[in-house]
Amino acid sequence: MFSKILVANRGEIAVRIIRACKELGIRTVAIYSEADRNSLPVRLADEAICVGPPRPEQSYLNIPHIVSAAEIADVDGIHPGYGFLSQNAHFAEICESCNITFIGPSAQTMRLMGDKIAAKDLMRKSGIPIIPGSMAAIKTKEDALKTARRIRYPIIVKAAAGGGGRGMRVCHNDVRLVSALMTCQVEAEASFGNGDVFVEKYLEEPRHIEFQILADRYGRIIHLGERDCTIQRRHQKLIEESPSPAVDAKLRRKMGELAVRAAKAANYHSVGTVEFLLDKDGAFYFIEMNTRIQVEHPVTEMVTGVDLIKEQICVAAGESLSMKQDDLHLEGWAIECRINAEDPSNGFAPSPGRILELQVPGGRGVRLDTHIFSGYEIPAFYDSLLAKLIVAGKTRQDAIRVMQRALEEFVIEPIHTTIPLHRQIFSDPTFWRGQISTNYIDRFLQQGEAE
Ligand code: ADP
Repeated sequence: MFSKILVANRGEIAVRIIRACKELGIRTVAIYSEADRNSLPVRLADEAICVGPPRPEQSYLNIPHIVSAAEIADVDGIHPGYGFLSQNAHFAEICESCNITFIGPSAQTMRLMGDKIAAKDLMRKSGIPIIPGSMAAIKTKEDALKTARRIRYPIIVKAAAGGGGRGMRVCHNDVRLVSALMTCQVEAEASFGNGDVFVEKYLEEPRHIEFQILADRYGRIIHLGERDCTIQRRHQKLIEESPSPAVDAKLRRKMGELAVRAAKAANYHSVGTVEFLLDKDGAFYFIEMNTRIQVEHPVTEMVTGVDLIKEQICVAAGESLSMKQDDLHLEGWAIECRINAEDPSNGFAPSPGRILELQVPGGRGVRLDTHIFSGYEIPAFYDSLLAKLIVAGKTRQDAIRVMQRALEEFVIEPIHTTIPLHRQIFSDPTFWRGQISTNYIDRFLQQGEAE
């Protein structure tokens, strides 16, 4: 087992990882930027090292500084969390070359799955359904138009190296497709350092269903059921739940088997997520595999009783899986709300500043993963996630009621947050019925404007 782990991240996930390490008896090193000097991970870790100025490129993405910190602190593992360097194969290689275990899959697997075109190709060869589209990077507008003739509109243009809901454009005609192609190529090159884009059929009103994978270094792979992440804004998840109201035992078995097959094809070890879109007719398609722990992992923990971060650390340390597929059963219902420092009534504008009043929810079935505290200054440099409010109940309806009262209790002032929006969603009959698609939020917001 590791004796000391450096947490190469910030915010709630850094806190989450430090907590898991403490419970495993592993010492921790937090890294921080100058903007995070007084942050909770810095307070909770055994040691803390400043790795640079606030801008991410100078601190949380600064590989030489982070590796130096790891060497100075003499750690034997690095946990990358999510975002930042978590899917950076080059970083994983550098860690390994310094004899520090990167807590994640191999650099080779990360590189393969980090390219959505290559990932789709591998899945197709492994017999996993994929969305019809171009099988290679689209270089010219003629290529794009030819594919459009074949798969027909609507079409989505995507960056091969895209992530976080960025780098995608939906098109309904040739003119839009040609202009989207060019903008996406330029944006992808600027944001991801790889200008490759591809196109695929845009599914209308799908659900986003993803499977949690856990795999050891010896080829044993299991899944921990699904998460339904259909409630999104601009392709970014806002509410997640497990199980999914749209998945029954039979579909779970089928999708779960294919998710495990996908992970096998990728030679996967560590925790990971196989993402699918499920269409109105019950057909589902692979969209991508995320080679890291996900923001929404707690909902799976709540219904399986498995601590995913601890398992991730244990398999990285070379332990074999402690459970078999048949040992896993989903019990009850869990839902997570992402509480972001954004103003939903003003186009989701970021809302940095100091938190002066904080009242956190608690009680039966409530879990709050957060790094905020009263007096905390929200820096403007990072993503806007302040907290993940996770609830569990016996049934979906029970979980919804717990969430409603937890949202009522939650006060973060004077910052604008997504709490009021969540309160509205949780009292919407359509959401209660679970009859939702990825367009839900847009419709919901439009309705609000119309009223
Ligand atoms: P990212 O890597 O940026 O998260 P994904 O490929 O995982 O991008 O897609 C994110 C979201 O974008 C999906 O959950 C879905 O809502 C939407 N999306 C992606 N591809 C399609 C598609 N072909 N049809 C419809 N929606 C899509």
